[in-house]
Amino acid sequence: MAILVTGGAGYIGGHMVLALLDVGEEVVVLDDLSTGFAWAVPKPATLVIGDMGDTAALEAIFANHHIEAIAHFAAKIVVPESVADPLLYYLNNTAKARNLIEVAVRAGIRRFIFSSTAAVYGEPIVNPISEDAPPAPINPYGRSKLMVEWILEDVARARDFSYVALRYFNVAGADPAGRLGQSTPNATHLIKVAVQAALGRRPGMDVYGTDYPTPDGTCIRDYIQVSDLIAAHLLALAHLRDGGKSLVLNCGYGHGHSVNEVIDMVKRVTGIDFPVRLAGRRAGDPAMLVAGAARIRNLLGWSPRYDNLQEIVHEAYEWERKLPSITAKATDAARKG
Ligand code: UDP
Repeated sequence: MAILVTGGAGYIGGHMVLALLDVGEEVVVLDDLSTGFAWAVPKPATLVIGDMGDTAALEAIFANHHIEAIAHFAAKIVVPESVADPLLYYLNNTAKARNLIEVAVRAGIRRFIFSSTAAVYGEPIVNPISEDAPPAPINPYGRSKLMVEWILEDVARARDFSYVALRYFNVAGADPAGRLGQSTPNATHLIKVAVQAALGRRPGMDVYGTDYPTPDGTCIRDYIQVSDLIAAHLLALAHLRDGGKSLVLNCGYGHGHSVNEVIDMVKRVTGIDFPVRLAGRRAGDPAMLVAGAARIRNLLGWSPRYDNLQEIVHEAYEWERKLPSITAKATDAARKG
């Protein structure tokens, strides 16, 4: 029996593939390689290059492999892009997920793990924010994901089908063993941008807003280390295999760091100073977003191991340093066929 990982050539999905292989699971990856990389999918996993909107491709996967559960990571994730091109996000994140769920249900799949997002909360009224807070997304990205949560809820009510939707807070860091990290060239995430600035791969960076109602005026986020996040997925899989009921769970540590704190940490860890410009606010950024983190600990027994900003930054830095040579090697290997 295999686990189908959509988006398994990407940052978070790729870490899921590694973790599944580490515990001896069989893995099939479906990825269109729009932002992921074939080199990120290790050999024992089967890589199918294709699109979740392609019903025939999905049917072929379910016909050729004994898929037991789906971990669905494939999505577009850039909030400003979702504001500029909402239909792209509703197609990619919502309509194609609906298609995946439909074909999966038809093929008899009963277990589904969904990468949701803290963006479903919009501008939280209280922090830490609990799963019981009414979702109120403020951008098409958050809405496109929330709609999938609703689809899953309705399908689970109608069929023999269970799911765990994990609402990610700010995912960061890299595999502690150094096998994988965030590799997307135009990534906009704070820690990635800051380590790129430290390495001189960009001239500097901007702080988006210094007048927020936070102690130092910059936004606060709950940065969760990617392997801790993936551990939550493995627990979710075990829960579903045990016949556990459908769940919607926050994935975060329950405390946050400001943008300034993160930048200071990057400078400290790397020992490199780089230009930081104090810029205006970015549209759609809530001042503070911190997970209510009790439910996942109580229901899945999740116990994070890497809750340490210094370590997270160190991993991100080490990965960024070696990324050019990994990419060059992969390009070389691809050329040689
Ligand atoms: N941020 C920033 N400069 C950057 C990238 C991000 O000041 O170059 C801020 C952003 O405004 C937010 C926080 O860092 O307050 C985290 O942003 P990111 O894009 O990493 O994740 P998000 O919280 O938007 O999902």
